[in-house]
Amino acid sequence: MNNFFYNVSVAIPLRQTFTYHSKQKIIPGTRVAVKFGSRSKLGIVTEEIKVTTIQTKTIHQVLDNEPIFSEVELKILAWASDYYHHPIGEVLGSFLPTNLRNIKTVLDDMDSVAKVEIENNPFQKNLTPQQTEAVKTLSELRGFAPTLLYGVTGSGKTEVYIRCIQEQLLQQKSVLLLAPEIALTPQLEQRVKDQFGPAVGMYHSKMTPAKRYKAWKQFRAGEINILIGTRSAAMMSAPKLGLIIIDEEHDASYKQHEGFKFSARDLAIKRAQMLKIPIILGSATPSLRTLRLVDEKKFGLIKLTKRITKQNPPKFSILDINETPLTSGLAPQAIEAIAATLKQQKQAMIFINRRGFAPQFICSSCAWRATCNSCDSSLVLHHHLERLICHRCDSAFGVPSDCPSCGAEQLAIVGTGTEQLEITLQELFPQISIFRMDKDSTKKANSMELLLKAIHESKSSILIGTQMLIKGHDFPNLELVVAIDVDQGVTSLHPAAIEEMGQQLIQVAGRAGRSDGNALVLVQSRYAQDKNLLQLKKGNYLNFAKSILAERKALNQPPYSFEAIIKAASPKTQTNIDFLDQLKKTIDTKRCIAVGPIPAMQAKVRGSYQHHLVLQAPTRTDLNSLLQDLINQLSKNKSSNKVRWSVDVDPVEF
Ligand code: ADP
Ligand code: ZN
Ligand code: ZN
Repeated sequence: MNNFFYNVSVAIPLRQTFTYHSKQKIIPGTRVAVKFGSRSKLGIVTEEIKVTTIQTKTIHQVLDNEPIFSEVELKILAWASDYYHHPIGEVLGSFLPTNLRNIKTVLDDMDSVAKVEIENNPFQKNLTPQQTEAVKTLSELRGFAPTLLYGVTGSGKTEVYIRCIQEQLLQQKSVLLLAPEIALTPQLEQRVKDQFGPAVGMYHSKMTPAKRYKAWKQFRAGEINILIGTRSAAMMSAPKLGLIIIDEEHDASYKQHEGFKFSARDLAIKRAQMLKIPIILGSATPSLRTLRLVDEKKFGLIKLTKRITKQNPPKFSILDINETPLTSGLAPQAIEAIAATLKQQKQAMIFINRRGFAPQFICSSCAWRATCNSCDSSLVLHHHLERLICHRCDSAFGVPSDCPSCGAEQLAIVGTGTEQLEITLQELFPQISIFRMDKDSTKKANSMELLLKAIHESKSSILIGTQMLIKGHDFPNLELVVAIDVDQGVTSLHPAAIEEMGQQLIQVAGRAGRSDGNALVLVQSRYAQDKNLLQLKKGNYLNFAKSILAERKALNQPPYSFEAIIKAASPKTQTNIDFLDQLKKTIDTKRCIAVGPIPAMQAKVRGSYQHHLVLQAPTRTDLNSLLQDLINQLSKNKSSNKVRWSVDVDPVEF
């Protein structure tokens, strides 16, 4: 009997597939076990090939009765492997449920459950004219039709999603709804579940592998028709996927920073293109990349410009703090504004992106500063834990009572974190409830829900939080927001930082003023005349984005050019520099701009130094072919073994 020959992607970090043979006919996308070296490894058949003259090993086991990836899914993932220059085996592997990432488990359909009936609950709300118009336009989309749903905060995007989902269900189709961090925004899940009942499944990293596996199987079998998931859900299969929705499309957490560095947003767009289905990208603060595509008419645009409550959006005021003494980071005017807000039985929120008590712990006699011995980063003082903690590697250290370097008893803190604000504000307003929301205060399961519930039940209170507090929540009684550390974003040289700062300010403002429309956002800054801040002050995100886009276009910066980073990591700085320098020499500077080697923002992590070579090319094709050349070189070059190198295409962290 004749052999069939197959290309198999093996779960190893190599940028190629391998040819194996089998007596069995195997459908591409099927998991198999193959010998690789002396060991049995998981493989996925990517294609059947015609005759081959090379000696091949045999596929010794076909693991499942059906393929895991369909033909078009394999194509999309092959595209992703090329686009991100990441080994195909790891790309495919990252979209397998954890249970199927080894050769011991097989896909059984024994415990498959019956199809869940879709509840056709009556809609809870009558749409506003703008929502009605949006739904109408969206439901007329056919084929690949990427569309930005720009809706100011509180304009009711979720209701629009719900009607669009309903349209699909009526046609017996499934919908994939991606959200940045589901655990942080329980209300989206709740709203969709209220409408469609048990036909809604979830898929995110806070779930157990068993639960994720179940959702994966149910969606795949058409037993549930709506799946809400985070970036790892971007490739979830369904028999008839009719629509993809990406909520908060601008959110940086759609990008994976470790391993396969893909953007779930971009992968989902590619998927919609290959499946020829519409994709809706929702946001009050769309990414500049999306806005460029809208501008060039490659993406459609639907606007929801009115808040449901018809309230005026909050007013922005920029507080110049150059000559101002601060109390735990707060200017006297900010404290007065908080007091006035509380007096009116309203809530005030302090937005600060630093958790802990103080970001630095120093000796004021010598130059000693508490740093992590494996990351070089400043240790953050955590008051409740009485520890100095590294926010990169989570190492914890005791708090010395005198300077480990000079022995002086002059240790001091620098800067403010959420914990310190909580303590200071409690002293200033002893009768008032204070709610702190950050990674530390929401560690326990359900703590987020409990905090949100308490906030909703309180009248006058103070909310302190990091960016976790500004995502999608609705705080009807919130009338004042004080933003106290925007200057990092204002002064950063990274193009992505200013975009993110603008998005955060508009999003944080969106939490306020949902009740009576007199809300105020106080932005403390040492750069009160900064043109981007002044633009944001007008409260119109699209105008802010427009002015940045014009500037970027003139300078050929992203999104008008295309970026990638070659990352090098090793125990020695010099090894990284030599490696990247050598690589840089081979780059044709007519094809692209190469900047570096430069230390990464996180220059040392867990004992390993990190350096970057940043590449910027005028077109996607240029960038792609340049990266391909570089990787071919690196794969041959022996010295590349001394560093751990990786490629980050469309980076969002530097
Ligand atoms: P966005 O996501 O655009 O910020 P949401 O979808 O959270 O806005 O909607 C804001 C609030 O308005 C929610 O409390 C939602 O339940 C409510 N809402 C949305 N649409 C309507 C409507 N047509 N009528 C009444 N309330 C609505
Ligand atoms: Zn000292
Ligand atoms: Zn560390």
